[in-house]
Amino acid sequence: MLQSALPGLADRVREAREYALSRGLLKYDAQGQVVHLPFALTPWQAPARFVRQVRDLASIFNRLYARVSHDPEFLRQTMEPAARTDEFVSRMLACLPEDPPPRPELFLTRNDFMPLQTPEGPSPRQVEINMIAASLGPASQKVNDLQRFLYREEELGGRILPTRPGDEQIRVLVQAWKLFGDPQARILFLLPPGEKGVFDQLTLASALVLEHGVPMLRCTLEELGREGELRGGDLWFRGRRVAMGYFRGGYAPGHYEGEASWNARRLLEASTAISVPSIPAQLANMKMVQGRLTSGDVLRRYLSDSEAEAAAATFVAMAPPSEEITWRGQRGRARDLALAFPEDWVLKPQREGGGNNLYGQDMVRRLEAMRPEEDPAFIVMEYIRPAAFHSVRMVENQPVEGLCLTEFGTFGAFLMEPGGLDRPILDQDLGYLLRTKDHQSREGLVIGGYAALDVLALEEPAGIPESGGRGQAGGG
Ligand code: ADP
Ligand code: MG
Repeated sequence: MLQSALPGLADRVREAREYALSRGLLKYDAQGQVVHLPFALTPWQAPARFVRQVRDLASIFNRLYARVSHDPEFLRQTMEPAARTDEFVSRMLACLPEDPPPRPELFLTRNDFMPLQTPEGPSPRQVEINMIAASLGPASQKVNDLQRFLYREEELGGRILPTRPGDEQIRVLVQAWKLFGDPQARILFLLPPGEKGVFDQLTLASALVLEHGVPMLRCTLEELGREGELRGGDLWFRGRRVAMGYFRGGYAPGHYEGEASWNARRLLEASTAISVPSIPAQLANMKMVQGRLTSGDVLRRYLSDSEAEAAAATFVAMAPPSEEITWRGQRGRARDLALAFPEDWVLKPQREGGGNNLYGQDMVRRLEAMRPEEDPAFIVMEYIRPAAFHSVRMVENQPVEGLCLTEFGTFGAFLMEPGGLDRPILDQDLGYLLRTKDHQSREGLVIGGYAALDVLALEEPAGIPESGGRGQAGGG
């Protein structure tokens, strides 16, 4: 502790820890004890240019994914080959509605990027977009407050870029709920069985109830599937209409305890309730679709040339293992390139929630054992290497210092009336999330304990102007 690069470390550690506990920056540990979430005591520093670049992408990606989710033909074509060997994808695809009822749609997303080091400075490279259970908005807001409080007397404090993604998500949920037009209708928080990430959700849930008078219930998919019923097109559950099913689970096979869970998905798709996300949106979110969108031709079906160019500038090489690609001037099957350069690739199945990717020799073994028919259910992706920086993180009440990497996520919202794809009610950037991890760690979970929530400080003292474009948060 004496050697720390951070002056006054002991005092800061104490103050930060007390702040985290008092403001609910919490999680359950493996023993079921309530502990603070891992968080950084020092911000990641980046130029305003980087922030502007990511913000300008918000609306482009919002519209891209909204449009893709309105192209069932493309979704079927892309996901059917994966569905042949992946039971979960197959079940999801089977819920794709033939003729969805007209109703408003809400997309609440988090687009995750890594800042690749280039001669012009850090430049965003997309890891993935999350359109289901995009979490940590309130937690990111709390750690932002924490660091701004910690550095209140220092120049650094003034350069921390404020963000309020928790408040913004609440505002958007309320706005979408109002569209339903029944003050008695509930928002259902759809949780995985045995949900651990409750603190982040409770911030949202309690604000809905206490500050906005929105009726809400938490339940599992299994409960909704058993007790929910359609009446005149509306979904009813425990005596009231459902205005919205807001998924905080449903992205992993284990969240579907039985047949009733799939019934819950079908009920939501067939009803007037807003499903966040809908089945088409969740399919659009799948990694095979992300892989297909790296093709310029496919991308330009959904975006103008200049928008497609801006989005594509954030893509790294990504393809099903057997596909021919060009990478660093070499032409070959993605699989062969990955086998020849195992440290430069990652193998991903269609799963969400962390811990599913294979790297290095694990990737090599899996690729070598892969049956040809499994191929479309996987994607190989170029490994992104951001510049390492020095960071002090609080992990299990202790400061940990060392070289770290960070991942920058931007929360987004897209809200539309039926048929309003090109005239959205909302199309916004809701703020950001930074997750910082040891430079040798490969995955970036926060609740799972690998990464720390972090904050961005601008390198330039002047800060960044709040521009009022339609990709910006409305500030309301
Ligand atoms: P999941 O859907 O399980 O969250 P992700 O694609 O987000 O899967 O991968 C999980 C984590 O693994 C990311 O947050 C990131 O830290 C790391 N990761 C994923 N893809 C890459 C990549 N191409 N390069 C470097 N790290 C990656
Ligand atoms: Mg992820």
